[in-house]
Amino acid sequence: MKMQINGKAVESYSGEFFYIINPATGELIDQVPKGTEYDVEIAVEAASSAFNCWASTSPQQRARILYTAAGIVRQRKDELAILLTREQGKPFAESKNEIEGFANVLEYYCGLASSFHGDFIPVPQNGYSFTIKKPLGVCAAIIPWNMPALIMAWKISPALITGNTLVLKPASNTPLTNLTLASILSEAGLPPGVINIVTGPGEVVGESLVKSPQVKKISFTGEARTGKRVAELAAGGMKRVTLELGGSDPMIVCDDANLETAVSGALRGRFYNCGQTCTAVKRLFVFESVAEGFIKKLEASIRNLKVGNGLHENIDMGPLNNCRQWEYIKELVADVEEKDEGRIVAGGRVPEGSAYSRGYFFEPTLVVDVQRESRLLKEEVFGPVLPVVQVKNLEEAIEEANNTCYGLGASIWTKNIDRVRTGCEQLNAGIIWINQHLKVAPEVPFGGAGESGIGKENGPDALSEYLDLKALMLKI
Ligand code: NAD
Repeated sequence: MKMQINGKAVESYSGEFFYIINPATGELIDQVPKGTEYDVEIAVEAASSAFNCWASTSPQQRARILYTAAGIVRQRKDELAILLTREQGKPFAESKNEIEGFANVLEYYCGLASSFHGDFIPVPQNGYSFTIKKPLGVCAAIIPWNMPALIMAWKISPALITGNTLVLKPASNTPLTNLTLASILSEAGLPPGVINIVTGPGEVVGESLVKSPQVKKISFTGEARTGKRVAELAAGGMKRVTLELGGSDPMIVCDDANLETAVSGALRGRFYNCGQTCTAVKRLFVFESVAEGFIKKLEASIRNLKVGNGLHENIDMGPLNNCRQWEYIKELVADVEEKDEGRIVAGGRVPEGSAYSRGYFFEPTLVVDVQRESRLLKEEVFGPVLPVVQVKNLEEAIEEANNTCYGLGASIWTKNIDRVRTGCEQLNAGIIWINQHLKVAPEVPFGGAGESGIGKENGPDALSEYLDLKALMLKI
């Protein structure tokens, strides 16, 4: 596939390509241009030229186009889901959910088309004051490979409905679904230049986008380390940023929790998308008094998970998305074994057999009796490894849960309302779930505290991330 600039499919000026590999089979799926700083300049120019016209259309007219696009996405759901599974690795059912999620988010923001406007504010001494809200201009969206379609929707929907134009940089190894979705937006009537996609390396394409003087806002999702680099570069131009970064979400299972539900929640929370979700359950704290029974049930359920190519039937978990992640997970588990920092009771290996020989597969893994100094508790484990720690009570669980630089999500599993209240007040996280984990909805604000980021996506508040608020004061 080619990049998309000013409504046209184009090659890069570099003349070079990136190869897109299926992580389940190692087969070459496609190639995309390896973009350069010059390609970014052209894309930003296209977005800048399209801005005045797009900003002057009514929000309702913009909504009609986005709504049409959502309809086409729904019609082509299966085809898009197959493409997503082929480039990303997740099971087909998860890809379908993600594609539906893309359409849902687009439609949700269409519904908010009439909701953002200024206010009249009476002030003392016969004054009149008003506020007006304007789009910012050209925005940059930089996205990761774990949920490329959903995260694209989180960024483009509030940006476009409020009248901004965009240059989007997909992750290097999952650009195909993003490029196809952008062509669907064009087909639905989005004018040329309103959305542009430049593929290529983060250090080149991403950084030139952030530095471009015409780019007024950057919405970035990715690792905390990259987010800090983006923030540093954006500060040079005093640009607005939304940073959605990593997480190390705790799940707390109290002694009064429904253990069956908690086991299902832990399975989905940790192994969905092969553990590569920002809000995955990355550390599980269980009360000592129920730990033995809970761990037994969890172990049995993990052993039942079916690992394989996401396009095959009844697969619960696909491969990791890329070689770097695969090597990281293998190294991490080897490190736990070597230092005796936990007991691996399920998984822990690359599965054997020819079906796995060319894919980045790793068994769903359960590690218990994890030592506090283990890397499993200190790093963001972006893969299918679940560390379990036993705690005496809620106080200890919350203290351990908050012992991280991250603050994205957290969940507490209990029937006791006092424990719910304590958890909600004391857990350091942007989103707290009770008796569930991982659920997100277009209506509900999403974003973290601490090193998990700055700003919110989803919900009506995300609109203000893309609007400039001006105050007018009149004396008549
Ligand atoms: P990453 O930081 O490596 O890359 C993210 C994007 O940034 C990619 O498009 C990449 O090419 C680009 N990039 C890389 N270097 C850059 C630079 N110097 N300047 C500008 N752009 C650059 O992250 P990843 O490995 O693709 O994604 C996994 C991470 O994303 C995890 O930490 C995960 O928790 C996080 N994540 C967070 C959320 C959230 O909403 N909080 C959602 C999904 C993923």
